[in-house]
Formats: sequence, structure tokens, C-alpha cells
Amino acid sequence: AVSTDDLVAWIRAFRDAVAAHKDELTRLDSEIGDADHGSNMARGLDAVVARLDPAPATPAELFKTVGMTLVSTVGGASGPLYGTLFLRMGPALASAEQMDATALGAALRAGVEGVVARGKAEVGDKTMIDALTPALDAWDAAASGSAADAARAAAEAAARGRDATVPLVARKGRASYLGERSAGHLDPGAASATLLLEALRDTLA
Ligand code: ADP
Ligand code: MG
Ligand code: MG
Repeated sequence: AVSTDDLVAWIRAFRDAVAAHKDELTRLDSEIGDADHGSNMARGLDAVVARLDPAPATPAELFKTVGMTLVSTVGGASGPLYGTLFLRMGPALASAEQMDATALGAALRAGVEGVVARGKAEVGDKTMIDALTPALDAWDAAASGSAADAARAAAEAAARGRDATVPLVARKGRASYLGERSAGHLDPGAASATLLLEALRDTLA
């Protein structure tokens, strides 16, 4: 089963991945946005990691800290959306009997549903949802196995969803102001969301 320490390690791994891809995320955002996605996310996740020592004792405590810190430090569109994702995960895990693949998948689903409720994006709108929704579906399809297997399937699906944003015309967020000119570029939020699932895969492997 997955421990609270595993989840803390996941968040740290996400911070490290965003730091390593900060310039790339910002370059992607410079093509169809305002060139701040890498710096926004890196700043927020640095603030998160600064609050993980001492480590939170429960998933509920962890995800509340992560979500509230992201909402208050990331800004832009992605801050409230990622913040919501984590704030919704905590209560879902708190009510789980054991932290297995099914419970983690349900928590991710609660989080992504929160992002959709807040941002109103659908698959195909060229946002982080294009990575997150297929990842959830792949997770559920693999959830009878281990959490590590489900995370591997989810990360693969996220990367495919991310890559599929390239030809799309953005219908949500700043990139939508470009209309047809947003086509031909990979969505930065779909790229960071893929890093989130890849960090989970690597942590649970
Ligand atoms: P901003 O656009 O305010 O500068 P960021 O650059 O940090 O914020 O984040 C941009 C990313 O946020 C986009 O690439 C997209 O994936 C995501 N995004 C924007 N609007 C929405 C929305 N309504 N729903 C889901 N994701 C969104
Ligand atoms: Mg931006
Ligand atoms: Mg911005």
C-alpha cells in the first residue's frame, strides 16, 4: 500500500521535475501564452516544499498544505486549478480505508473533477485536462493491480494526451485569445500535468 511518506516524496519529486523543466515550460507558454508557466509553478512548488518539513502526518494534512500554498503563490490560471486538484484529493484519501490503487485513483478523480468544475475545460480544449482526464481513465483501467502499475499506465496516457494538444485550437485560458494561431504548439499546462503523473510513477516504482 501507499504511505503518507510516499505521497510526500511524490510532491517533492514533482517539485524537482518542474524545476528541471522550468525553462521548457516557460518556453511553451511563450508560444501561446505569457511566458510564465515554468516560473509560476517552480515558485509555487518551492514554497510547498518549504512547508513539508516537518513532514505532514496524514494525506489530508499534506494535500491541504500543498493546495493552499499553490493557490496563494502560483497565481495565474494554473495556481487556483492545481490548488483545487490537491485540495480535493485530501478529503477523498482521508475517507479511504486503505491507500491502494483504487483509493488513490478515486482521490485523483476527485481532484480532476474539481479542476473541471472550476475551469470548465473539456478534453480537446488544449489544457491540462487533456493530460489529466486520459490519465485517470488509464488509472482506473489498471487499478485492479498495484498503485505502481496504475501510475505507470496513467503517466503514459498523460504523455499521449499532452502530445495530442499540439494540433488543437485552444478554447480555454490565455491561449484561446490566439484562436487558430494557438494550433501547432504543445500546451504548457498539459506538459506540467504530465510531469505530475510521471513523478507519481517514479515515486511508486
Ligand atoms: P496564465 O495563463 O494565467 O499565465 P499559467 O501560464 O501558469 O497561467 O498556466 C497556463 C495553463 O493553465 C495552460 O497551459 C492550461 O493548461 C491551463 N489552463 C488555463 N485555463 C484553464 C482552464 N479553464 N481549465 C484547465 N486548465 C486551464
Ligand atoms: Mg502563463
Ligand atoms: Mg500569467
